[in-house]
Amino acid sequence: MHPACVNGGGPLSRIELAVRARLQHPVLLEGPTRHALESWQARCGEALTVIDGEGRGFRARVVECAADKAVLLPFEELTRIPESPVRIEVYQALPQRERFELILQKLTEIGVARIVPFESSRSITRQERDAGQKKSHRWPQVVLKAAKQCRRAIIPELLGVQSFAAALYEAHHADLRFFFYEGSGTWSLREALAGGQPRRLALVVGPEGGFSAQEYDEMRALDLLPVSLGPRILRTETAAMVGAAVVQHVLGDLY
Ligand code: SAH
Repeated sequence: MHPACVNGGGPLSRIELAVRARLQHPVLLEGPTRHALESWQARCGEALTVIDGEGRGFRARVVECAADKAVLLPFEELTRIPESPVRIEVYQALPQRERFELILQKLTEIGVARIVPFESSRSITRQERDAGQKKSHRWPQVVLKAAKQCRRAIIPELLGVQSFAAALYEAHHADLRFFFYEGSGTWSLREALAGGQPRRLALVVGPEGGFSAQEYDEMRALDLLPVSLGPRILRTETAAMVGAAVVQHVLGDLY
């Protein structure tokens, strides 16, 4: 079974105009494009990033947003489309402190395509997490707000909390896949990224307590590479952000 996306994110959230956009010429949205607009929960007057029929990026304002009619007004052409050529997926063990919202916000800004929280033997469970102050039902809104703020053209796909096995199953579909590991016997990030241009890349980040020996073995059995983030032990949220940023620098659009 395909694990559920909980936020309407992913490629279907891209607002693709059927026509060539012209500045200050209103565009009526129909069909799937209309559906994409809904995933942004945009209100009248709000500005969004859209892609026109020729693949160019624009900022466009929502000028009409009724149940039966939605109209956008492109007002600025973008010199660069804010979506990375490489699909970066981050699999993040649920952190204990109130750090997951920070991770969601920052990974969205860094330009990752997909964020997958998971439970591992040394992470807390979602129930324990929700007993704290900030609840998981807020996560889609955190991602949406960050995507709007940094002017992305898609909303990163956020999955519900997965088991370790389900997260690994998803991660192993990527062409390049590794887990950050602070122990010995690791590849350097430079070595791990040297082997050409993957289309889809999965990074797995452990919880505060790290991965267990059994989890290490399970990831190795699925050909995930253990990769170092340098000689200092980073907090889990730092590891996620630094790892994604370096990957975006070496392979993507942050150069
Ligand atoms: N329990 C460990 C630290 C875990 S840090 C200890 O105290 O020794 C939390 C997660 O961040 C790790 O599971 C790993 O995925 C990542 N991480 C942190 N620092 C790292 C480093 N220097 N290299 C690779 N991964 C790191």
